[in-house]
Amino acid sequence: MTPMSGLILIVEDETDLVDTLEFALEKEGFRTRSAGTVEAAFASATGTPTPDLILLDLMLPDGSGTTLCKRLRAEPATRETPIIMMTAKSEEVDRVVGFEVGADDYVVKPFSVRELALRVKAVLRRRQPAETTPVPARFGRLRVDTGGHRVWIDGQEVVFTALEFRLLTTLIARRGRVQTRDVLLNDVWGVQPGITTRTVDTHVRRLRKKLGLAAGYVETLRGVGYRFTAEVPDEREGAS
Ligand code: CA
Repeated sequence: MTPMSGLILIVEDETDLVDTLEFALEKEGFRTRSAGTVEAAFASATGTPTPDLILLDLMLPDGSGTTLCKRLRAEPATRETPIIMMTAKSEEVDRVVGFEVGADDYVVKPFSVRELALRVKAVLRRRQPAETTPVPARFGRLRVDTGGHRVWIDGQEVVFTALEFRLLTTLIARRGRVQTRDVLLNDVWGVQPGITTRTVDTHVRRLRKKLGLAAGYVETLRGVGYRFTAEVPDEREGAS
């Protein structure tokens, strides 16, 4: 396994399990911190330095891990922090990792610490920022002023909302690479309760409408996601 570093917050009230997890994770090169209640965990998660990942038990003495997870997702400091839920109830899993609660992954108790360490690494790797290329000032019919948040199509300025602008520049920065709806939700919206992948489709549709003759730059990959074209297409008369 490749060595990784980072600070992991273990939220668990069973002290034996906390000890085991601390030992296993520190052996893998991680630093750890722990909390045994919802309130202590919230304070620790939002305190400095903020943890790079949170392991969250579902059943805590003063509340549920799912409620805490939603609270952490609503908090700017922890909105994007990866969360792995530890649950004894496999039937909870769908709810937990879905958008309702917003966890990134889960393990069902009893789990092996080795499996958990692998999950932690996988989630951290996945959360590393996607490769980006600078947004060019000009791309075919498009002109983008990233600092000024302005967009022109064939020399005509078009007004985009802040969210549309973020969606557009995210796609452009990752041009040539497919972006799944989940990735876009995560990187453009941030995981928020009540938001589904359908939101992405709606906004892409709006974005395309505003892009007009440049709409074709945003390609749909059925059932997968979207991709901004890598190269300016042939836009001579007759070509579309
Ligand atoms: Ca517990």
